[in-house]
Amino acid sequence: MIELDGAAGEGGGQILRSALALSMITGQPFRIRDIRANRAKPGLMRQHLVAVQAAAQVSGARVNGAELGSSELSFTPGPVVDGDYHFAIGSAGSCTLVLQTIVPALLFAPQPSTIRITGGTHNMMAPPVQFLQHTYLPLLARMGAEVGLALKRYGFYPAGGGEVLATVRPWRELRQLALMERGAYIGGRADALVAGLAPQVGMRELDCIGEAMEWGREQLHLQRLPAEQGPGNAVLIRLDYEHVTEVCVGFGAKAVRAEAVAQEAIMQAQAYLASDAVADEHLADQLLLPMALAGGGRFTATTVSMHTETNAALISKFLPVDIYFERGERSNLCVVKSTCQPS
Ligand code: ATP
Repeated sequence: MIELDGAAGEGGGQILRSALALSMITGQPFRIRDIRANRAKPGLMRQHLVAVQAAAQVSGARVNGAELGSSELSFTPGPVVDGDYHFAIGSAGSCTLVLQTIVPALLFAPQPSTIRITGGTHNMMAPPVQFLQHTYLPLLARMGAEVGLALKRYGFYPAGGGEVLATVRPWRELRQLALMERGAYIGGRADALVAGLAPQVGMRELDCIGEAMEWGREQLHLQRLPAEQGPGNAVLIRLDYEHVTEVCVGFGAKAVRAEAVAQEAIMQAQAYLASDAVADEHLADQLLLPMALAGGGRFTATTVSMHTETNAALISKFLPVDIYFERGERSNLCVVKSTCQPS
């Protein structure tokens, strides 16, 4: 039984999500205490509880402590079983963070699976669906893992009600990935998503982005979503390179001006343009787990966050890998190295 401290490092939900994924894949049970101890509302929130329940269903696990607010949990998985799964978060809790828990495990199931999740699709502090579609999953594909993701319906905070559908094929060939260069810049675009709000909100956001990025009208897209998928607003800036796509996001919220929402995404895009690194802060923490499963990999990152360091420490508890970082001026090197001796 692997003992985990939920207050370690950043002390957030990532420790739990990565532990669930790796426990299912390796078959090693774990016990965690002080779940999300460093968060304002510690313990299992709705989204984390659904992640635990989903992991239990996918692997036939025995679980103790799976209740809202719980700060302790033990998880003993069985074999990962493919299937057509449906998980309902029942609030605007993040669909993509539940996917982050379940998808790696289903890559190790004998047959393909589908996962339908209802909840939030565009939440603060979680990958927007387009980040997974354009940034994360193409890189996973280069590691040999085939995962498709369709956005069926948008879900914004606080109403939720969004839906995503993922298709996961068994990971047949584990390929190590070295992601050291972005390659040539191909182009950029911005999308303002507006549901159940005045379209002017999105137009103002696009005006700001056009001016700050010096982009023409053809790069700026207003997406008017059906009103019943709102109220909600987010703006996405996408930068396409030969070897990677960067997706930056700003989230609309009550009493936050459209210009401020745009500015959030602009700042991320400009920081990315000012660096040479391939992975942004978020991609960096998300690449570690698949690279560790593939037996190694390396990439450059704009930032090595506490979140990334915490995830690295957790992964090394389940898998025979050494994960280390070398900090530089314009980018940082992240290395995932297998510690297994070649036989
Ligand atoms: P909590 O304890 O509330 O669950 P947490 O510690 O799990 O929080 P966060 O720091 O909120 O986690 O991040 C959750 C995950 O979402 C991380 O993998 C992070 O990289 C990813 N993420 C957050 N924001 C973005 C974004 N804008 N784009 C892509 N990924 C994101």
